[in-house]
Amino acid sequence: MKKLLLIMPDAHMHKIILGPIRKSLREAPLTLTTLAAMTDKTRFEILIIDESIDPVPLDYQADLVGISVLTGTACRAYRFADHFRELGIPVVLGGPHVTIIPDEAALHGDAIVIGMAERTWPQLLDDFLSGSMRSRYEDNDKEKSGWLADVPSPRIDLQRRSGYVLPDTVQATRGCLRRCDFCSVSAVWPKFYRRPVADVIRDIRNLPGSRIAINDVSLVDDVAYAKELFTAMIPLKKTWGGLATVEVADDEELLDLMYASGCRYLLIGFESFNQESLKNIRKGFNRIDQYSEIMRRLHARDISVQGTMVFGFDEDTTDVFRETVERVQELKIDIPRYSIYTPYPGTPLYDKLMREERILSHNWEDYDTMHVVYRPARMTPDELYRGFKWTYEESFRLRHIARRLGPKVTLNSAINFMGNLTYKMFVHRLRHDPRYEAPHGYLDTRPI
Ligand code: SF4
Repeated sequence: MKKLLLIMPDAHMHKIILGPIRKSLREAPLTLTTLAAMTDKTRFEILIIDESIDPVPLDYQADLVGISVLTGTACRAYRFADHFRELGIPVVLGGPHVTIIPDEAALHGDAIVIGMAERTWPQLLDDFLSGSMRSRYEDNDKEKSGWLADVPSPRIDLQRRSGYVLPDTVQATRGCLRRCDFCSVSAVWPKFYRRPVADVIRDIRNLPGSRIAINDVSLVDDVAYAKELFTAMIPLKKTWGGLATVEVADDEELLDLMYASGCRYLLIGFESFNQESLKNIRKGFNRIDQYSEIMRRLHARDISVQGTMVFGFDEDTTDVFRETVERVQELKIDIPRYSIYTPYPGTPLYDKLMREERILSHNWEDYDTMHVVYRPARMTPDELYRGFKWTYEESFRLRHIARRLGPKVTLNSAINFMGNLTYKMFVHRLRHDPRYEAPHGYLDTRPI
């Protein structure tokens, strides 16, 4: 029996740290548990480590190490890889950043996996066992879109449930049909995949909790598929939260089915209150004159909204911060979330800013949407950074939270209040954590 160690390096996602207790405020990720499910358990003993909640055992006597790499975690992932290789343990690197910049990752791994690992992982493990592991494994599916069938249910038994606010996660689709200029989804998954509804329902049935997260980036891109899925979910009597574009509110039948299937929370990318900016970032399908109606339709169905806003578009001046806080309050977005426009490698935005020689940092640790890594058009990097932090502080003042949530106390408003308090804690970290002191130039000096 070979020992396999699967690692997801700490992505600095929102979490609670109380002494030895670490709890991620996000849903449990699926990457490692899905890889584990595709691994023959009669031949491998598997240990999964999500460093956001548990330290990586650096002295673990693994036979093979697999590391999932995001752009923001790439430097740390490479340090882990170098460490285990120095111990003589072969390392496989995969994930979005490896797919986008394979040659960089190849310097740190014995093998790299490009594209979706579902189709290559079993072959890689066979090759490893027979001593013939290649240096590259690439998913060569050339279909424009399609089905992602035969993916087994994730090995949630290997994940520490107590580490997550939402330990029960499922995925129905992968990819997105849109092409927003800052989004790396289409660079990582150029196609849009659906999983057979029966597979998704099987996975949901296997989840022990009554509240689940659907972590698809654009769940309702295929409306017919979404309606079929939501209809099949109704008898399961779970409540769930997920992500959608603003267009979800165009179809009232879809909204009714979502609610009936248990949807009580949606994360929606509003991004901006400037229509010109939305057009220029290829997100013109967001119509700012419809934002009020979208919120009304969702709130009428008791669906809470986490709305994301991005700062630093070429049209943005320093006025954008105050204006955004006011509009968020008017719309009563239950939990606002702010990001700095970030040119992830592989995106059209990255290519544009490279051509314009506006990229200020190639330190991937800064690529977390909370640092400024480029020169904005109409303000300085420092003004953008200070404005971003000010907007967070202002939005999560208690009087603003109370106004957004309104006087009526319901189960949802109580949950939203707790969510807002959690973000208030994050604001405290933004103000005091040295990691957030400068607009860019952060270096992760924590020991691995
Ligand atoms: S930002 Fe959202 S809608 Fe736009 S491409 Fe990415 S996943 Fe799709």
